[in-house]
Amino acid sequence: MRSGQPWPAPVESPSELRLDDGARIGVIGGGPAGSFFSYFLLDMAGRVGLDLEVDVYEPRDYTRPAPYGCNMCGGIVSESLVQTLATEGIILPPETIERGIDSYVLHTDVGSVRIGTPTHEMRIAAVYRGAGPRDAAEGSATRSFDGYLQKLAVGKGARVVRERVSNVERTNGRFAVKRKGADPVSYDLVAVATGINSGAKTLLDGLDLSYRPPRATKTVIQEYRLGEEGVRRTIGTSMHVFLLDIRRLEFAAVIPKGEYATICLLGEDIDKALVDDFLSSAPLRRCLPVAEQPPCHCSPRIAVQGAFRPYDDRLLFIGDCGVTRLYKDGIGAAYRTAKAAAKTVVFHGVAAADFERHYWPACYAITKDNTLGGWIFSATRLVQRMRFARRAILRMVAREQRETGMPRMSMILWDLFSGSAPYRDILKRGMHPTFLARLAGDLVAALAVPQDVHQEEVAR
Ligand SMILES: Cc1cc2nc3c(=O)[nH]c(=O)nc-3n(C[C@H](O)[C@H](O)[C@H](O)COP(=O)(O)OP(=O)(O)OC[C@H]3O[C@@H](n4cnc5c(N)ncnc54)[C@H](O)[C@@H]3O)c2cc1C
Repeated sequence: MRSGQPWPAPVESPSELRLDDGARIGVIGGGPAGSFFSYFLLDMAGRVGLDLEVDVYEPRDYTRPAPYGCNMCGGIVSESLVQTLATEGIILPPETIERGIDSYVLHTDVGSVRIGTPTHEMRIAAVYRGAGPRDAAEGSATRSFDGYLQKLAVGKGARVVRERVSNVERTNGRFAVKRKGADPVSYDLVAVATGINSGAKTLLDGLDLSYRPPRATKTVIQEYRLGEEGVRRTIGTSMHVFLLDIRRLEFAAVIPKGEYATICLLGEDIDKALVDDFLSSAPLRRCLPVAEQPPCHCSPRIAVQGAFRPYDDRLLFIGDCGVTRLYKDGIGAAYRTAKAAAKTVVFHGVAAADFERHYWPACYAITKDNTLGGWIFSATRLVQRMRFARRAILRMVAREQRETGMPRMSMILWDLFSGSAPYRDILKRGMHPTFLARLAGDLVAALAVPQDVHQEEVAR
């Protein structure tokens, strides 16, 4: 059984395992999930007077550019996450924000439209996870988003061990963390937050767990250095999203960051042929003419289905190696799962039964929402195939951006691109009778008058 099913099998004999003063926690991986978990764990423990020791194992050096300091990602932090973090007292420092995004531009083969922020504020942040791309300028050491989160965890008392964990083994009912050339270190709880790009499963080989890792697929990220002026002239402060009829391509975006443009391609096993198709497509070339191979590019994997049973006695999986959101807001999912995990550990216990009762519901809520996300992406795929449907959507958005009133299609697309809202809310908006009636009208009009919609027509 995988996490697509409503609830995992009941745990046979739930044990009562709680952490006492002086308990030791090993966190494997210091990306967003590991850092958020350590931060909230130490924060909550401090509030109830529980004294914990937290070691975070993380080989990356976030003061260095890619590949040494980068956790490969599009780097969009949605406005809802920026706000939620602010309510936690976590305010992103200006040096980590490469660009405030104030609009989206939707590009298709039949035209393009700009969608302004519903609130006219630049609250979406484009960040670098490390200290920038491979050829980033010196002096960019404090720009890393992951580095900032790690500092927060260290500020609460976490200790960073800058080394890779090679293996986890079971000793006397506890887990011990092994590194090359060092003695194993035993912990009262091990939190695995390794993401999905370095094999959490092999780390745990031989432990006989029911855990099954998430299903994942290959993506592509490319960083083009345009210079500040080049970015301003081409993509500006908008994120550019492409709805193109290219097989296996679910989502393509160009994101402005400092003096770079980040191209991000998500879909089914993105390969070179698909990248070439995208780079040579007319809509991309109109927006960002790129000729040569970028100096910084990577092919990270992205989870498309959550893990099964991301916990055991004294062991849990958070962030991407547990459950994350489909194609969007992975950092937000890391925050939510990490906080739920920390709460469970401090207030309930570290037995599998505790995780099942108090941690799994947070994961399951994301899994359930991903099912709805899957339906939305299926509908998007249909639109990708039908030229008149693309025209209808552009017409609708263009009109909404000119008029006052409820911009329903614009808001659906905004939330879909930014990851700001759950898929459930997006679907609910898409089912509204007024929206459906207007969409039907635009579909008929687009069939009757097959006219392209050009950006110049869009009043902001
Ligand atoms: C192409 C692409 C674009 C994306 N765009 C966005 C976006 O715009 N916005 C967004 O919110 N999300 C985005 N995501 C998703 C986001 O990157 C992830 O959801 C997020 O990074 C998950 O955080 P994590 O901490 O679980 O894992 P990671 O960020 O992968 O961190 C895992 C950490 O564990 C460390 N580690 C691994 N193995 C070991 C080991 N054996 N020992 C010690 N340490 C180890 C790694 O060095 C790493 O630092 C994107 C993903 C992809 C692939």
